[in-house]
Amino acid sequence: MAQVNRRIVLASRPQGGISVANFRLEEVPVEAPGEGEVLVRHRFLSLDPYMRMRMNDVKSYVPPQVLDAVMVGGTVGEVVASRNPRFAPGDVVAGGGGWQEFGLSDGKMLRKVDRSLPLEAYLGPAGMPGVTAWHGVFNIIEPKAGETILVSAAAGAVGSVVGQLVKALGARAVGVAGGPDKCRHAVEVLGFDACVDYRGDLVGQLAKATPDGIDGIFENVGGAVMDAGIKQINVFGRIALCGLVSGGYDATPIAIADATPLLTQRVMLKGFILSDHADVFPKALPDLAARVASGAIKWHRTVAQGIAAAPSAFIGMLSGANLGKQLVDLG
Ligand code: NDP
Repeated sequence: MAQVNRRIVLASRPQGGISVANFRLEEVPVEAPGEGEVLVRHRFLSLDPYMRMRMNDVKSYVPPQVLDAVMVGGTVGEVVASRNPRFAPGDVVAGGGGWQEFGLSDGKMLRKVDRSLPLEAYLGPAGMPGVTAWHGVFNIIEPKAGETILVSAAAGAVGSVVGQLVKALGARAVGVAGGPDKCRHAVEVLGFDACVDYRGDLVGQLAKATPDGIDGIFENVGGAVMDAGIKQINVFGRIALCGLVSGGYDATPIAIADATPLLTQRVMLKGFILSDHADVFPKALPDLAARVASGAIKWHRTVAQGIAAAPSAFIGMLSGANLGKQLVDLG
């Protein structure tokens, strides 16, 4: 009997709030690779906020997720059959296999990885989220020793790496996260100098945590969190605008409450999308892998079990149920 590939497709676009009903689980036969193709058995799937944006049928930096097609997503797994000379069965590869147990690829976007790190790391600090952090820190904010850098979603996949890179450069890392447990994790495990729980007195706590103001902001959240950071920004501050997850990526506008400090403090604000920066990966990936291997970068993951659990884990991650990188273990 043919092997079964269980996969999740986009069944409908969210109207208002996202729900598990927007997804559909399907079972289809596993296909054999054609000429030049590779069949990968996915071990882990990455769940990332950008996927929510792609569920909307609006103009963005990439076309929307196609209805009834397999949800896009980063994966890591093992090659089980290959008709591509670059890959052999047993190779471990990271790529964009989507929300499914098996994926066929032409190999162009597959990256061979070694087994020196746990496989999940290649979807977290030694993968796309890590490179996102690396790019924003080294190429946009460029923290100097002694400066104060604010990092929102500090206990998440990207933010946790940002804080540790900032510390490695001798700057002060101040996190913003949801709830006392995440803030404790940011300070006690990740080494942030302070962390503000945005569910409390955000503006007051942030002012206390940044007595010398803020020189750089790695912005993952937007809204009230970004407004509070901008209020404290110092002259010639730099803002790496990486994400606006507080809006839930449901296509509603996200305002900046007061742009005045951006002018008076002569701030550089740069939005970026990592996929524009393919040149960063060859530099950042080995550096991040080495830092993870040595323990200089600590990381945490929240792992859902089985492909059927992906939609609810995804929705949970969007509202902060995850600590560190949200993954799905595909067995
Ligand atoms: P995380 O692991 O940080 O998970 C998302 C987190 O967002 C949640 O854990 C939650 O943390 C936080 N969050 C959700 N809603 C709110 C809210 N209303 N207010 C404040 N925080 C909220 O995800 P990633 O590390 O993968 O991504 C972080 C950001 O980086 C996202 O905005 C993402 O879109 C962006 N990104 C951008 C890239 C780019 O190329 N520009 C590439 C990769 C990621 P908490 O519990 O603390 O609220």
